[in-house]
Amino acid sequence: MSGLKPSRRWQPAFYPFKKEKFGPRLLARTELLIKGPVWGCRMCGNCLLQETAFICPMECPKGMRNGPCGGVTPEKNCYVDETRKCIWYAIYKRALKTGREEKLLEVLPPLDWSKVGTETWGDVFRQVRKVGALNFIKGNLSKDKSKRTETWESVFRTVRQPVWWNGDSEYHPPAYTEPVSDLEKKLKNGEFVVATEVTPPLSSAPAKLIHDIELVKPYATVINFTDSSSANPKMSGLACCKVASDLKAEPVYQIAARDTTRTGLQGAAIGACQFGIKNILCITGDSPRVGPSPTADLNFVDIDSVQMLWILRRMRDEGIYLDGRKMKYPPKYFLGAATSPFASDPVLQAIRDHKKVNAGAQFFQTNIVFEHGGIDLWLEELDKRNVLNKVYILIGVATLKSYKVARYLHDHVPGVNVPERILRRMEKAGDKESEEGVQIALEFIQAIKNKKGVNGIHLMTMGWEAVVERIVKESGLM
Ligand code: SF4
Repeated sequence: MSGLKPSRRWQPAFYPFKKEKFGPRLLARTELLIKGPVWGCRMCGNCLLQETAFICPMECPKGMRNGPCGGVTPEKNCYVDETRKCIWYAIYKRALKTGREEKLLEVLPPLDWSKVGTETWGDVFRQVRKVGALNFIKGNLSKDKSKRTETWESVFRTVRQPVWWNGDSEYHPPAYTEPVSDLEKKLKNGEFVVATEVTPPLSSAPAKLIHDIELVKPYATVINFTDSSSANPKMSGLACCKVASDLKAEPVYQIAARDTTRTGLQGAAIGACQFGIKNILCITGDSPRVGPSPTADLNFVDIDSVQMLWILRRMRDEGIYLDGRKMKYPPKYFLGAATSPFASDPVLQAIRDHKKVNAGAQFFQTNIVFEHGGIDLWLEELDKRNVLNKVYILIGVATLKSYKVARYLHDHVPGVNVPERILRRMEKAGDKESEEGVQIALEFIQAIKNKKGVNGIHLMTMGWEAVVERIVKESGLM
């Protein structure tokens, strides 16, 4: 536990990749000696403390630099290590309390690994010298608040936002008008859409995959393929999407940051276009903590989902790679993101989702929701933030096949809470439990389909693809 931060320090500080000269090394050591105990600094080389309410986000085991993942437990603990608080929940709470919440909207860069473990104070001193020490002092003493902010930012924005990133808190509308996919076209036309998912196979045999795609294709606008959900290896999303495209079904290509580097992401997006895949959903992905052993690295992911959106949006709309190089033929896709309205708190989640929309999200697919009344608060918050008119929302609906499935979701899937009344209904249904699961889904769809801001549903069947036809027909969404 360090002085000004609400949690304990988990990971050790980073070391620089190469040996620095004596001066920078001494400065780095001094910086760590002060910032370590006070803020739990890990020496990431790109200090964001001012944007994160003076709590270092690098304690997050996923290395999230743009807000919480969807796995916060109901007690607001980190699902990767339940013995400590979710550091991002603490950041959001303090930011709200101290009036710094709008700072949470700035899209922050991934780490520059050549700077990790080195000092940042040197960067600040050099920037102050550039601006002029006297100008910097005078500007900060000005009575005019905007002058003070401008002077401060002339130093600190340059330090935290490298030119290759140039993140901001603004909304960037897509730089095209004609819909790129059928999903986008239908949403633009005001249709209430149905998305569903087909579970990727655990082996290389495609027969079941093909069968399931054919089964749901007539009833859904798009089919999602998860990217090794629960950190459990399955057939890649790209391969499944290609199979779906060949069968004339429109896929949503889910890419999890967990298994993707910045280089891999850009390559995957360009590659997807070659297969005619037009919808990409950016997610951070479940921690390897919930996957099978031996456990993969729990310490860090290279990029988070907000950064993925920012990179892909700029590739498409500005025709540039992450490093700023120009692309000759930029890829085209409709960009989506996942959201978990009830992870942490709907008000906090709305801030995070606002940021995703600014970064490039054009549609949301939510995690499973059971309480239709509960999403009202989240939708209201998005509306207050003027976000509802910039993004399409597909609410996640679960089709529970059995009490066991409901219990498993509640106990083991990060970010999903099955209310007690639903668990009781499923348990009491006995051998009619699958029928009860269908009724729960149908009641839920009726309750949400006319809500302002809801543009469709995302049916999560968890391997029960055969139920899609019935749900779509009986809910009147055919
Ligand atoms: S719950 Fe998610 S965001 Fe929060 S500390 Fe854990 S991994 Fe990070």
